[in-house]
Amino acid sequence: MTFYKIGQMISFDEALNIVSGINVRLTAENVDFRESCQRVLAENVLSDIEMPPFDKSAVDGYACRKSDILNELEVIEVIPAGKVPEKEIGKNQCSKIMTGAPIPKGADAVMMVEDVEELSENRIKYRKDKVKENICYRGEDIKKGEIVVKSGTIIKPQHIAVMATAGCVVPLVYRKIKIAVISTGDELVEPEIKPTFSQIRNSNAYQLLSQAINTGAEAEYIGIAMDTEESLRNIISKAFDQADIVLLTGGVSMGDFDYVPKILAEFGVDLKFKSIAVQPGRPTLFGTKGEQFIFGLPGNPVSSFVQFELLVKPLIYKLSGNNYSPVKIRIPLGEDYLRKRSDRLSIVPARIQEDGAVYPLEYHGSAHINSLSEAHGLIFIPIGQTIIRKGDLADVRLI
Ligand code: AMP
Ligand code: MG
Repeated sequence: MTFYKIGQMISFDEALNIVSGINVRLTAENVDFRESCQRVLAENVLSDIEMPPFDKSAVDGYACRKSDILNELEVIEVIPAGKVPEKEIGKNQCSKIMTGAPIPKGADAVMMVEDVEELSENRIKYRKDKVKENICYRGEDIKKGEIVVKSGTIIKPQHIAVMATAGCVVPLVYRKIKIAVISTGDELVEPEIKPTFSQIRNSNAYQLLSQAINTGAEAEYIGIAMDTEESLRNIISKAFDQADIVLLTGGVSMGDFDYVPKILAEFGVDLKFKSIAVQPGRPTLFGTKGEQFIFGLPGNPVSSFVQFELLVKPLIYKLSGNNYSPVKIRIPLGEDYLRKRSDRLSIVPARIQEDGAVYPLEYHGSAHINSLSEAHGLIFIPIGQTIIRKGDLADVRLI
């Protein structure tokens, strides 16, 4: 649904709504859980056992009856982890027990080894007069059949541990999304080459490829298109042959050689927007071609980085069934921030210092290639706001 004229500048929220409103879902496949990190779960993971599976000791020590801790105790067994206890704890008895071993019958607490004096080979005395139970009870963390990782979760190392525990060895995950990256511009040379006067090294493509790979996508570099219709046509055609999402940088603004919108029309791309009231990143284009998508990102590297974060990532995750909601924190600004114009949402690279405040970094504009190098996040300064005072709360998206 397009409810505004193409070419018209729309707000960032509208742009995000359009991208997030895409209702295409990738197909899913079962993979070995060991290789599932960064994939998005397409089913709930249920546990086939309780955790812990038995009452187990949380510490190294002596399992006994709480009521006996003031007495001298006889040691009747040693229980390493993995062994089934053979003896029941009776009055004034205990068993030496290791962390993770099953609690023997009759015991209701474990005295920590550090607090116990060994009187002889099989007699001990507790040095304190109070004891914590130090027992992890059967099923206290996970019940059998319980959902332990929800469908739509982006799998992280901590989920791998949960899947291993729950016996989920071949989880159903969405297939990897395929992303193709294209650079455009006659002035570009590859990084191996020392640019001559008027040339510039292609940095965007490699930044975008890395950003894409960081989301778990399969990313492929297609190459540099010259600023001619034919070159663009050929390279875009190649990209659409293999990718779910095509990322193109440069060539979208209003320069004489910015042919992208025209060529996309030839490919039958339904252009959803072409200009966003955001800084950096105004000339950001988005279009759909059936179940394929294309972003035309600005040529300047800071803009393309930011727009990937803000718009491409949500689409990548949306196609994989994840409602991407990056953490935005509100923390005090460390110094006054002023800007002259406020007709666009402003995104400013920033660093959080040890005083807990966020400081805008030196930023000369969207071509300032190393302005993000020290950044922890991006400050969002809303339309209409020209000043944020030191100490005022600012919205920061961590990157
Ligand atoms: P454009 O959007 O094509 O007008 O480009 C805007 C600015 O970004 C120009 O200064 C370009 O030279 C620069 N630029 C475009 N593509 C890249 C790229 N892949 N890597 C680095 N800079 C680029
Ligand atoms: Mg260009």
